[in-house]
Amino acid sequence: MKDNEFRNWSHKAADWSADYRDGLRDRPVRAQTSPGAIFNAIPEIAPEMPEPMDAIFADFEKVILPGMTHWQHPRFFAYFPANAAPASIVAEQLVSAMAAQCMLWQTSPAATELETRVLDWLRRALGLPDSFSGVIQDSASSATLAAVLVMRERTLKWSGNKAGLAGQNPLRIYCSGQVHTSIDRAIWVAGIGEDNLIRIPVTGELRGMDSAALEAAIVADKKAGLLPAGLIASVGGTSTGGTDDVAAVCGVARRHGLYVHVDAAWAGSAMICPEFRHFWSGVEQADSVVFNPHKWLGAQFDCSAHFLRDPDSLVKTLAIQPEFLKTQGHDGIINYSEWSVPLGRRFRALKIWFLLRAYGLEGLRTMIRNHVGWSEGVASRLAATAGFRITTPPMLSLFSFRHEPKGIADLDAHNLKLVGAINDDGRIYLTQTKVDGQSVIRFQAGSFDMTQADADTAFEAIVEIANRLAR
Ligand SMILES: *Cc1c(COP(=O)(O)O)cnc(C)c1O
Repeated sequence: MKDNEFRNWSHKAADWSADYRDGLRDRPVRAQTSPGAIFNAIPEIAPEMPEPMDAIFADFEKVILPGMTHWQHPRFFAYFPANAAPASIVAEQLVSAMAAQCMLWQTSPAATELETRVLDWLRRALGLPDSFSGVIQDSASSATLAAVLVMRERTLKWSGNKAGLAGQNPLRIYCSGQVHTSIDRAIWVAGIGEDNLIRIPVTGELRGMDSAALEAAIVADKKAGLLPAGLIASVGGTSTGGTDDVAAVCGVARRHGLYVHVDAAWAGSAMICPEFRHFWSGVEQADSVVFNPHKWLGAQFDCSAHFLRDPDSLVKTLAIQPEFLKTQGHDGIINYSEWSVPLGRRFRALKIWFLLRAYGLEGLRTMIRNHVGWSEGVASRLAATAGFRITTPPMLSLFSFRHEPKGIADLDAHNLKLVGAINDDGRIYLTQTKVDGQSVIRFQAGSFDMTQADADTAFEAIVEIANRLAR
């Protein structure tokens, strides 16, 4: 690219972005390509000589765009949202231009100081006490890994990093069966081992850990000479919103000196609305809490907010201070790279700042309340429609359902076929999961630009396609 073309192409990209968002409802939500189609459309070898930007941009539209699944589509009801609110996209454009590495205070003081400030804005917005300090991690997976490493080091009296785990009695971590797979990975990577991740049976409509069973497991492990180290509580599990009684499990953890990490990666955004905070009541007793503003709230990926009651134990676990990273003469400053596994860090605080200012907490609360209400509306309309059963009731804006028409023998296969047919249709996008061993369909409302009309379209598309398949 020639030097003087940057301005021109930046403008084109901005115009393209605005047109793209305006036109999303006209596109199928999920990519409609077959495996290998995009790969085979790309030349086998990289160009030796510069190509004109016109040609590159044209290929982007022709080759790449048809292979995109549109996560910002107002009728994206699959997985969880990855909302990029327009104001946060603008912030990311500026961040891309500056492209600073914000690992230390002195490598961009504004990035560090804005991070401290906006994480405190978020902490207050969620109703967390001022004993918590926040840091932005690249993902909830990283935050959970960091928390598990703290559990390990604390329990081993800070000797694990140096001596390794050889010869140690096994450490034990507890959670329910509803937690995200990032918990398994954190346990693997921390060297604790999957066999030492103890899944406590769940009870109740919210499918939370049975605290009596938790207590019994910890007591038995201690008696066997194992080392109970921590507990990971789920608030709004990925499959169907499984949620632990945070106050009850924190009570058990405290009796046994265990570190508690709360994974509210998706549901945490809803806690800006006071009426939803009962889902995590007791959270102020936890040691560490993670939620992803890059999911529901609208801060463009990646942006994971990690709150800690005692950041010193995290820094003690992760800080490395070789000579070249020391920032002489600035005592009391924060170097956020000491709070996370990766050293390099993007300037992620700017998009939170833009987001919170451009929409206001009240604007974001309205969005979340709408999503919850619209999701409840779709659930109750499906419940009232012949052949449909709600398999897990709405937890915030997430519920699951199953189509069980008469005369179909294999209902699991029928429901999987239904998800496929709905996604091929393209008006909406849904995913499947399992509830009590049965295949069910997940529905979550959370797209930043969604309206009531999109909820209506979702209901109509589901019923129409289901009835067509069952005929
Ligand atoms: C999405 C999700 C995660 C993983 O988040 P990443 O930021 O992609 O690592 C973890 N836990 C829950 C409950 C989630 O919904």
